[in-house]
Amino acid sequence: ESPEGRRIMEFRSSLPAYKEKEAILSAISSNQVLIISGETGCGKTTQLPQFILESEIESVCGVVCNIICTQPRRIAAISVSERVASERGEKLGETVGYKVRLEGMRGRDTHLLFCTTGILLRRLLDDRNLKGVTHIIVDEIHERGMNEDFLLVVLKDLLARRSELKLILMSATLDAELFSSYFNGAATIKIPGFTYPVRTHFLEDILEMSGYILTPDNQIDDYGQERIWKMNKQAPRKRKSQISSAVEDSLRAADFNDYSLQTRESLSCWNPDCIGFNLIQYILCNICEHERPGAVLVFMTGWDDINALKEKLHTHPVLSDPSRVLLLMCHSSMDSLEQRLIFEEPEDGVRKIVLATNIAETSITINDIVFVLDCGKAKESSYDALNNTPCLLPTWISKGSVQQRRGRAGRVQPGECYHLYPRCVYDSFAEHQLPEILRMPLQSLCLQIKSLKLGSISEFLSRALQSPEILAVQKAIEYLKTIGALDENENLTILGHNLTVLPMEPKLGKMLIFGVIFNCLDPILTIVAGLSVRDPFLTPLDKKDLAGAAKSQFSSDYSDHLAIVRAYEGWKDAEKDLVGHEYCWKNFLSANSMRVIDALRMEFLSLLKDIGLVDSNMTSCNAWSYDMYLIRAAICYGLYPGICSVVHKDKSCSLKTMEDGKVLLHSNSVNARETKIPYSWLIFNEKIKVNSVFLRDSTAVPDSMVLLFGGSISKGDVDGHLKMSGGYLEFFMKPA
Ligand code: ADP
Ligand code: MG
Repeated sequence: ESPEGRRIMEFRSSLPAYKEKEAILSAISSNQVLIISGETGCGKTTQLPQFILESEIESVCGVVCNIICTQPRRIAAISVSERVASERGEKLGETVGYKVRLEGMRGRDTHLLFCTTGILLRRLLDDRNLKGVTHIIVDEIHERGMNEDFLLVVLKDLLARRSELKLILMSATLDAELFSSYFNGAATIKIPGFTYPVRTHFLEDILEMSGYILTPDNQIDDYGQERIWKMNKQAPRKRKSQISSAVEDSLRAADFNDYSLQTRESLSCWNPDCIGFNLIQYILCNICEHERPGAVLVFMTGWDDINALKEKLHTHPVLSDPSRVLLLMCHSSMDSLEQRLIFEEPEDGVRKIVLATNIAETSITINDIVFVLDCGKAKESSYDALNNTPCLLPTWISKGSVQQRRGRAGRVQPGECYHLYPRCVYDSFAEHQLPEILRMPLQSLCLQIKSLKLGSISEFLSRALQSPEILAVQKAIEYLKTIGALDENENLTILGHNLTVLPMEPKLGKMLIFGVIFNCLDPILTIVAGLSVRDPFLTPLDKKDLAGAAKSQFSSDYSDHLAIVRAYEGWKDAEKDLVGHEYCWKNFLSANSMRVIDALRMEFLSLLKDIGLVDSNMTSCNAWSYDMYLIRAAICYGLYPGICSVVHKDKSCSLKTMEDGKVLLHSNSVNARETKIPYSWLIFNEKIKVNSVFLRDSTAVPDSMVLLFGGSISKGDVDGHLKMSGGYLEFFMKPA
């Protein structure tokens, strides 16, 4: 053994999971399903698969196991496999490998494969019995992603067919019971955590201790409305009544008799719909001036409030002083290189403050955190099945999330956690976040059920850990029929088959396919990539008008989608001259989004080649030699039935959709800046319900296009299009 090997072994055996090694191995051998819980960092992901591997290496028969360990995210699958290989003193691709979409590394001797949940689902397509696989480990199961819930139903069936297959579910502490009962009382093992104590301060304690006085103005702060998170008005129907009223009830019922009069008066000014920036600034400043060394992690809801808070802190004398404070951000739309900065140690005497979304809650661990500030909210995407409207809104988090956030402190020494809401509000939180399957659109899931030939969609979903509402299922099936992915009998059409292999929302996949058919793939690739990333057009709050004008100059044709194409192509040219950054700066574009769009375009193109929809030697070209009518048509075919009629009246026009009645344009849309839209329809990608329903990106289209796909297809229209598309359209129109 090398000294390095000995050092690693020493480290591994110091992890809490290691102490449970024998118990875990014997539980695996005597149970078909085992549920292992334990706090982040205790060694589940990196150690458990190795225990199984090692026990086989030591056994007389040699290695016969074939372990698949799924991760909810690409980055986790890759980085964990790297870590495990290096702990074993091997190169990646020997006994340990990984596979994520379009990327992988494994060899003949690979017995432990880390992959995304999506990859395992795809493998089930060709090999529904997972021949040769001995162990399946589903990691981070408590996150309750749609794919993971789906996989569990499939695996439950598979376990009955293959009695020698082992399933291990791993999760952070809380909900082991739920999974255990789903698998008929499966065995559970809890690995004890190892954290230092974290002192918890709720809002009333913070006020009492500091004498800080909340006033209504304090929360609305100098910048006014923009910085405030309205919550209750935005929440979708059902959640609203559950969450906000629970918070209000708990506030009404609470007495703060043990607290001073000043604190009680101050609490009565607390507004649950706001995040008090001034209070956060006050606490941060206090930590910097008076507390022991240690980094601070502030949990906010999203990119926009993180940015707004950062702007505010930049004007503060202490918090903006680089010799005292290193201010960093961490949210999902930053690339991993930028995200990595938060792990770096600041210079002596400089305090690191990280403003983060809930991605810092579980998937990454910043080790030097001593102080945590928790605003109690996170942006949660949900979906209003009734009128088919997705929402991305700040909502109160669950008790489970609070525990996770608090647990970010106390890793290296005792910690402090400041919750910016009263304890009674915490008591009213739900135990767990609603799983994705209960709050997200089900269209992609339904397609997957069909492509795996799992029978009736509703019957299958009724066997899930928690079944979605019948209405949501019906809406999804109806949608898939409308776009032509399912036929009347809920069978996949040819279009549906093609959509199941494209890893994006069905509507975006369909747009790509029609980009191919109409021979205008290049701009459509840009649009689909652009709609898959965070809005590349930036709108700083204080320069909204300038930013809006900058966006409008990319579009002279009433289309946000075409504006993305023009902006991207301009960036490509600027990059050639090495002035991409200046170009983005001048035009209020996110350079990061541009790079991601660039990468996604390549990825989508190679996928289309893989499935044979695009000739393998086609390279994308960069010119506006396309028929604009066809580009518009591809957008329209993809996004239908996301349409809205434009009703002209005098000099203005009003907008209506079937489900919502009157709707408004999002202020970032180029069409919101037009006084008149000379078309009868707007086709849109997304509507968002705030207090009214807003359309985000939209493109104006003429009557003929909507008629063509709105069901009343006239022979003449079809013939016309068949000519343009070289007969390909017929292929998709034919019953499967
Ligand atoms: P869990 O899955 O229980 O959250 P992991 O198995 O991922 O825990 O990690 C266990 C421990 O191994 C961590 O607490 C950390 O100390 C160490 N570790 C894991 N990955 C790395 C890495 N890439 N680099 C350094 N240390 C790591
Ligand atoms: Mg883990």
